[in-house]
Amino acid sequence: MARPFAEAFYNSAAWRKCRTAYINRRIAIDGGLCEVCHRELGYIVHHKIWLTEENINDPEVTLNADNLRFECLQCHNLEEPDGGRKTAGRENQYTFDADGQIVPLPP
Ligand SMILES: [Zn+2]
Repeated sequence: MARPFAEAFYNSAAWRKCRTAYINRRIAIDGGLCEVCHRELGYIVHHKIWLTEENINDPEVTLNADNLRFECLQCHNLEEPDGGRKTAGRENQYTFDADGQIVPLPP
């Protein structure tokens, strides 16, 4: 689950567009592998600088490709601060359409 303050952000068109563009960029680079282990396919676009109530409105943090990393679920969970027991929220899920394009699941 997204933390409450971040929910509007994760539902925003700006983030969806940014995330999809980032995923497509990673697919072009290495087929969309996890940027941490380079073994699994990426699953989540992670913010290297964690989103907080202070930076949630700062596009230099929230929508900056330099602050993003494509990670598989396992690597992402290892980074969760509360012991890695969180599962991905729906805002981080995507699927493939008939043309093989990655599309985010609707909320
Ligand atoms: Zn990984």
